Amino acid sequence: MSGPPRLTSPSAARPAMLVDAHAHLDRYPDELLAPALAEIRRASILTIATAMDLSSYERAKAIAARCPLVVPAFGIHPWNAPVYSDELRDQSLRRALDEALLFGEIGLDRRFVPNARTHPAQRAVFELFLAAARDQGKLVNLHTSGAEEEVCQLLERFGRPAAIVHWYSGPADAFARLLELGALFTVGVEVHFSPHIQALARIIPDDRLLTETDNPEGMEWLTGTPGMPLLVTDVVGKLAELRGTNPEGIVQTVEQNLFRLMRANRWLAPVAERILGEAARERAA
Ligand SMILES: [Zn+2]
Repeated sequence: MSGPPRLTSPSAARPAMLVDAHAHLDRYPDELLAPALAEIRRASILTIATAMDLSSYERAKAIAARCPLVVPAFGIHPWNAPVYSDELRDQSLRRALDEALLFGEIGLDRRFVPNARTHPAQRAVFELFLAAARDQGKLVNLHTSGAEEEVCQLLERFGRPAAIVHWYSGPADAFARLLELGALFTVGVEVHFSPHIQALARIIPDDRLLTETDNPEGMEWLTGTPGMPLLVTDVVGKLAELRGTNPEGIVQTVEQNLFRLMRANRWLAPVAERILGEAARERAA
């Protein structure tokens, strides 16, 4: 068959891909990065490599150049916002904002950074990214810890960008509001430990569900051991148990959700088609 890849169900002719919609691949030490990328290739894990700052984004891009299943995002994490808030008009920052395919990890943090003196810097940096997302039509990958309501207000003010909310553990009212705003939610490794996250994992609508690892430090924070990409299969297993379905069903749903999101976005649609095209070619080979 000739012509562009078919736009029907992305997984019709092959096993669905796993999805890690939020991982910090640039944070792997060198000796773990190669095994991590090998795992991503072997298990077909479509991975969004979120960044913490400019240098982390440069490293995420270099990693993506080594692995076709890795999509690099540019973000300045709220924890790093104070370092950047004086340099918001910096040329290299501007260039990264313009060229990035999507933005993340960005957002606000009032839970782990209660120091109010950092809050104006967090706001300034987050608003810069939201304005760019609005102007350029880019997807955002969000950190909302302890600032869920404020994040909702800002999403509203900046034109409701398409959003992935990472590791949501906030209150039910902000969860409902984020749903109204069209957000998708990643469930990650804390689903094994937190009854609150388990309760959320049961009620996220099928069409809003994504999976993540927040590797390598998500699991390290919880258990002391850095996470590897295949951790996402444990998250899938737990989600299947909580939602009364099977792991294959979760994988299929999550893959469809991410591809739907990517295809609706002019920056990510070509990436989605490239990845699906490569998967089809690999299967045919
Ligand atoms: Zn993260």
